[in-house]
Amino acid sequence: MDSEHCKTMVYSSELFGRSYQCQRKAVKDGYCKQHHPDSVEKRKQKSEGLYNKTLNQRAMCYVIYLTDEQLLNEVKRRGL
Ligand SMILES: [Zn+2]
Repeated sequence: MDSEHCKTMVYSSELFGRSYQCQRKAVKDGYCKQHHPDSVEKRKQKSEGLYNKTLNQRAMCYVIYLTDEQLLNEVKRRGL
């Protein structure tokens, strides 16, 4: 481990499943831009957001087949 580089250990299938220290320069708290917990969290939220969007779109297709009352309940339940 050297402190100039990001302290994240990266898993590599090219290295037969061994991990190596990230070779990007540490910019904050010993992490590179990509691996800083804040960025990781942001990326996670972004992908979860995409996932929820897809779910909502599916929900919209699905609710077409419901009666008005069921639809209202569905909308209330999902907080749309
Ligand atoms: Zn890194």
